[in-house]
Amino acid sequence: MNATPDIVAAAQERTGGCLCGRIRFTVKGEAVYPHTCSCPHCKKLGGGPMMWWAGFAPEDVTWTSRIEPTWFETFEGEAKRGFCPNCGSRLAAIDSDVPELGIVVTALDDTSGPDLVPVNQSFRDNSVHWLPQVPDTQNSPVG
Ligand SMILES: [Zn+2]
Ligand SMILES: [Zn+2]
Repeated sequence: MNATPDIVAAAQERTGGCLCGRIRFTVKGEAVYPHTCSCPHCKKLGGGPMMWWAGFAPEDVTWTSRIEPTWFETFEGEAKRGFCPNCGSRLAAIDSDVPELGIVVTALDDTSGPDLVPVNQSFRDNSVHWLPQVPDTQNSPVG
């Protein structure tokens, strides 16, 4: 009870998984650069006007189920997206120029963490005009 909120956030472990439950995972620690993305890939893959992402250190992400995501390479050798081969839920992304593993926030069982609130929106030019954009609250270095 004496821990400060920051320490609690850093130590916390969260659970997540796909819709059918065949893939389950845990993530530890505080989310890095939570953001939404309205790029053409996220719109096609995510089935909506944007996806909601947060980064976690690869060593802090553990696939706890018998099977792991199936990976689809969106840019050969550079980026791939993980999904459940049974129900199709989107779960994760690996980008060669980003040290963190990208987790689809909506795959988490509890999306209420304050460190998950998006601080920016990527690919604004590709966003739909009828939805307000996420403000860049941290003057983010990446677009
Ligand atoms: Zn599934
Ligand atoms: Zn995207």
